[in-house]
Amino acid sequence: MLSTMQDGHLSIGTLLRYASKVHSTSEIITWTGSGSRRETFADVARNAARLANALRGLGITGDQRVGTFMWNNAEHMAAYCAVPAMGAVLHTLNIRLFPEQLTYVANHAEDQVILVDGTLVPLLAKVLPTMKTVRHIVVANGDPAALDAPDGVEVHSYDELLAAQPDTFDWPDVDERSAAAMCYTSGTTGDPKGVVYSHRSVWLHSMQVTMSDSINLAQSDTALVIVPMFHVMSWGLPYAALMIGASLVMPDRFLQPEPIAQILAAEKPTYAAAVPTIWQGLLRQLETHPQDISHLREVIVGGSAAPPSLMHTFEERHGVPILHAWGMTETSPLGSVARPPKSATGEERWAYRYTQGRFPASVNARLIGDNGEEVPWDNESVGELEVQGPWIAASYFGGSAVDPEKFHDGWLRTGDIGKISPDGYLTLTDRSKDVIKSGGEWISSVDLENAVMAHPAVAEAAVIGVPDEKWDERPLVAVVVREGENVTADQLREYLQDKVAKWQLPEHWTFIDEVPKTSVGKFDKKRLRAMNSEGKLD
Ligand code: ADP
Repeated sequence: MLSTMQDGHLSIGTLLRYASKVHSTSEIITWTGSGSRRETFADVARNAARLANALRGLGITGDQRVGTFMWNNAEHMAAYCAVPAMGAVLHTLNIRLFPEQLTYVANHAEDQVILVDGTLVPLLAKVLPTMKTVRHIVVANGDPAALDAPDGVEVHSYDELLAAQPDTFDWPDVDERSAAAMCYTSGTTGDPKGVVYSHRSVWLHSMQVTMSDSINLAQSDTALVIVPMFHVMSWGLPYAALMIGASLVMPDRFLQPEPIAQILAAEKPTYAAAVPTIWQGLLRQLETHPQDISHLREVIVGGSAAPPSLMHTFEERHGVPILHAWGMTETSPLGSVARPPKSATGEERWAYRYTQGRFPASVNARLIGDNGEEVPWDNESVGELEVQGPWIAASYFGGSAVDPEKFHDGWLRTGDIGKISPDGYLTLTDRSKDVIKSGGEWISSVDLENAVMAHPAVAEAAVIGVPDEKWDERPLVAVVVREGENVTADQLREYLQDKVAKWQLPEHWTFIDEVPKTSVGKFDKKRLRAMNSEGKLD
């Protein structure tokens, strides 16, 4: 029997119409380096309409792809709204990809138009001649004359283009299952893979972001969105903000600890989101330049494991609780969020908060052990995490769902290794390619890193497996010592004595100036492994 309910489409156009009316005074606040410029949601909607008209004028029809090569700012937000709402597909290009990867993703997605920030024009100019389908470049916040475009590519000024357009657009009814936006994974192995989000997946994911037991973004929040809009849609915060009317502070290109501290002081956001390395940098900044950041009611950290030492320092020194969450490009990204259960108190609450968290009702999870069998949720048995749900990818763009490396039986294989407690809390011990196999046992590189990073003289520590004749692999710890501090490998080994099992105690240590980072600021262990084979870590 069918229900008697209506069947309205969950589309970004609907979201935009709603936000511009009901939350018309909520704001997108863009940092300029010395202050902020502010646009209300009503302004954003008008600019989105102008942009949609302009894109139609440039020939964008149907589900053609419009790329963005931009920082987090109001213009990028307008593109987030306009492109999907007009029925086209937003492709957020990761500005930190290698040139050949940028060429690959723009050609693979068949981008027709690219919106670029003025400061990023020199970077784009290098790869533009290799982007075969791009016909128009629209330069925002900068001078279009600065771009010497190849033949067949027209360059426009964002401001001039929009000034000539009406501020309304007849947003079409878009099927909720059609493509809204796409994002390529940063491709730690092989070519980047395109994940295509639907209007429906974006909508449902936004609802999850606003749920109180989840990210809990609320109408009363002003959220500092440091996680880039080219990295898994800023973890879904822009669309979730439209849904509930939270204001967003966009840092534009000012992502160093000093400007982040300035933005915090000026705008006093209540919420913020970024990967752990950003927060480590801010903590160092606050050590030398103390500042009250207790206006942050919560900070969300994900993308890689949040070290417990980071969580404690934030809370105990600055009064700011860190919320740990797990996800990936293929999961939109919200997978799990570490809010403790109501029964937990004191230290137990901390233990829950260190985990990667609980899955929401829409995300179905299982762990698959070495023998291909599902392992129990007993907080001990370890396996590869697999997930399924309405905002989880079922295949890659242009690829097949029958890609046994990544998708099987309707499940996404995450490549993450971990355990799950009986009450559903996930603890990741590693990515499958980072786990260290020593004498038939697994050593978690993440556990070792967390233990070393808890030492007061250590700023950062990354652990990789190195070949070992007897044990197959052993851990190598690359340590960045805090400025003005001194510590030796022997002292760190001694420090670990009562923190990790004896057989896991690393005998290989190296001291480096900085841990290499990936395009989205995570420890780049592939690079670290390469440095080691090149003898650069001796
Ligand atoms: P990439 O594979 O390029 O890093 P993503 O940004 O999609 O792309 O990264 C997803 C991966 O990041 C996850 O599969 C997981 O390994 C890691 N990750 C994300 N959040 C966490 C977390 N809270 N703890 C540990 N690892 C995490």
